[in-house]
Amino acid sequence: MNTPTAKTPPQHAPMDQFARDGGELVLGGQRLSLLAERVGQTPFYAYDRGQIRARVQQLRQTLPQGIELHYAMKANPMPAVVGLMAGLVDGIDVASAGELKVALDAGADPHEISFAGPGKRAAELRQAVAAGVLVNVESLRELTLLAGLSRELGLPGRVALRVNPDFELKGSGMKMGGGPKQFGIDVEQLPQAFEQIRALELQFEGFHLFAGSQNLRAEAICEAQQKSYELALRLAGEAGLPVRFLNLGGGFGIPYFPGETRLDLAPIADNLAALQQRARAEMPEARLVLELGRYFVGEAGVYVTRVLDRKLSRGQVFLVCDGGLNHHLSASGNFGQVIRKNYPVTIGNRLDAPRETLSAVGPLCTPLDLLAERMELPAAREGDLLVVFQSGAYGPSASPQAFLGHAPVVEVLV
Ligand SMILES: *Cc1c(COP(=O)(O)O)cnc(C)c1O
Repeated sequence: MNTPTAKTPPQHAPMDQFARDGGELVLGGQRLSLLAERVGQTPFYAYDRGQIRARVQQLRQTLPQGIELHYAMKANPMPAVVGLMAGLVDGIDVASAGELKVALDAGADPHEISFAGPGKRAAELRQAVAAGVLVNVESLRELTLLAGLSRELGLPGRVALRVNPDFELKGSGMKMGGGPKQFGIDVEQLPQAFEQIRALELQFEGFHLFAGSQNLRAEAICEAQQKSYELALRLAGEAGLPVRFLNLGGGFGIPYFPGETRLDLAPIADNLAALQQRARAEMPEARLVLELGRYFVGEAGVYVTRVLDRKLSRGQVFLVCDGGLNHHLSASGNFGQVIRKNYPVTIGNRLDAPRETLSAVGPLCTPLDLLAERMELPAAREGDLLVVFQSGAYGPSASPQAFLGHAPVVEVLV
């Protein structure tokens, strides 16, 4: 184990998920320089099927059998990726009618699609009822709308209540539950929701609890799962309705920044086994579900941008690349980061070159367009390929691609 001390600054977790060949990174069985030729342009994102499959398999092997895995497709909504995931996991979580369309087009079973999101339009709810998907209801308004739609369409709306719990997920990059929040229905307001569900004859299926995202501390995730389970059990009693679906959330993080290490799944697996054991007795009809986005796809993807210019400014090397913040907002530090830190980055066609300290920037006219700040990287030349690791989630769809009018990025699943 590599324990950082005062003398050794914190390091990035080893980006050893991809093979290497002749000083180049290998993706989808192809050396990076050749892959760039076959894509036909830079910048591009490449997602590695084998890596995604391996990640799902690793979860299946580690977590207890019977724990269902859902893919939250907002992490990576590329249709080819959603199609791949639809064949690997037990369900797809969508957050808009647009995502619902992609999931259905990809062949996902509507019965195994759930639809969350704090601002669902009436038209979106209508589509959801017509499609027969489960709606994770986030407000009393949605219940009323769903009841009307069910009557109109002659289909009972399938609902799970998204609960805003009375606890928070500790150590999460993004908290999405506990305290006053726009997500879910406050625990205190649930009696009203239960009353409405009984009166409106909606098809109640269970609860959705999502405490937060990007968590690397197994014990915090276990605690949130445990508290979520306890809460759901208590609520099931109050509701007097059978719980068939219990979404315990996700929040599994991946290491992005120096000092972060990969999540330890073993304690999470033990914790889930214990909860599953209890559920068999206490909520025998309930399927236990985890919903994960970035954990499935984040480490399987890279962003590749070509070095246009190598500039020396007052002793510092700057690689000016053909893409940056416009395609990869999170690597620039402008998506959910308070203090900017470097993503793991390398020169993907020159892994073995001698190292130098350099900064890498994108082509935009703003100092925010920064991909690497004074990192030790292989010395690069014009035409080389800068690679940003951990880029399979929250990439193009979470970036301001129209900003400054450069061409949109290309995505490939390899
Ligand atoms: C964003 C989101 C997810 C996925 O989060 P990741 O950090 O990508 O795993 C899952 N569920 C809900 C409700 C979300 O909003």
